[in-house]
Amino acid sequence: MSATVIRNGRVIDPANKRDEVVDLAVVDGRIAERSQIRDQKSEIDEIDATNLIVAPGLIDMHVHLREPGFGHKETIESGARAAAAGGFTTIVCMPNTSPGADNPSTIAWIRDRAAEAACVNVVPTGAISVGLAGEDLAPIGSLAKAGVVALTDDGRCVQNHELMRRAVEYARMVGLPVLDHCQDYNLVGDGVVHEGYWSTLLGLPGWPSAGEEAIVMRNILLAECCDHHIHCQHVTSAGSVRLIHEARSRGVKISGEVCPHHIALTDEAIQNFDTNYKINPPLRSKPDVDALLEGIADGTLSILCSDHAPHAGFEKEVEFDRAPFGIIGLETELGLFLDLLVHKHRRIDIVRLIEMFTVEPAKLLKLDGGTLSVGAPADVTLIDPNLEWTVRIDNFQSASRNSPFDGWKLKGRAVRTMVGGKTVWKL
Ligand SMILES: [Zn+2]
Repeated sequence: MSATVIRNGRVIDPANKRDEVVDLAVVDGRIAERSQIRDQKSEIDEIDATNLIVAPGLIDMHVHLREPGFGHKETIESGARAAAAGGFTTIVCMPNTSPGADNPSTIAWIRDRAAEAACVNVVPTGAISVGLAGEDLAPIGSLAKAGVVALTDDGRCVQNHELMRRAVEYARMVGLPVLDHCQDYNLVGDGVVHEGYWSTLLGLPGWPSAGEEAIVMRNILLAECCDHHIHCQHVTSAGSVRLIHEARSRGVKISGEVCPHHIALTDEAIQNFDTNYKINPPLRSKPDVDALLEGIADGTLSILCSDHAPHAGFEKEVEFDRAPFGIIGLETELGLFLDLLVHKHRRIDIVRLIEMFTVEPAKLLKLDGGTLSVGAPADVTLIDPNLEWTVRIDNFQSASRNSPFDGWKLKGRAVRTMVGGKTVWKL
């Protein structure tokens, strides 16, 4: 028997509409009644949470852990440590590994490796198409049996609408949501930055907003046609927000997520050709950022995530158009979202922010977590919403350093992360 009591924190548990200063009890790795603590005969650990928020363990449903195949960028072990340091107790990993996660044995390998090496819960997704090549369907039934929580070709996008339709129909049969990286290859071509003022000025190939919106529209049509949920990953453009808003108001099973860099930065950042601003989809214009903030405020965009995309220094330190897309995000996203959404722009309160990191992804992916209900796994994040800190990439747990936020001053940070009642990270 082990018992812990987290004393005097502000417990925010949106799943149970709970927001009160109270002690939280943990017995044998699960949330318990406070009376169970009083009956304990063995020693009780105490954690002082005065002036802290006690939240359900945060979930990041869009993370690239790079294993198998690219362990020089990140491993399941180092990525999980980065997650814990960022306040995350569950991370959902994307299938664009090598081999790709398009078959049950790769899924089994990821789950085994996570059980051995990861200090947080690692949940795999499976590919939509074989080799994420967009040509033949992956074995969706076997992937579901192997334990994936969703299907996605993230990093790539199925261009053939008929193939996508069949994927959504099979996904519906096995009860898995479909997540989509929305990119029309014909419209985007070799675009590397948002098509607009800065791409023209710098002479870099443009990635037009329409290249995202065309696929968001396709997904809305297929969600309606197949009566099944499609979730649009890393939404960036005002047009996408408008399309999703309109479809949701008609009850279409469509949703969208936002990454912190897409609201913290605009395409103006690319003018120094720093490849840490090269992201797919790209940083967009100020009106797009305003539309994303509006979409977060009115509930059109319901999930926050990082799109944590590690790359080694030698891969990013090349010419802008030759560098790989993506930045790491697990250790900065909570601070950025708290700072920008809650403190600076005041678009949502902290209760909604926690809900977007817990209840919303847990509901979409049918995860066992995201709540502090009695009996739930004791995955808990302690947050100091007012802690002012400076991002230092040299102190990151991630194996990679490709972040544009080094030196940023942020307000709000996780100070302790607990998985199954055990502290896996502490500031
Ligand atoms: Zn993506």
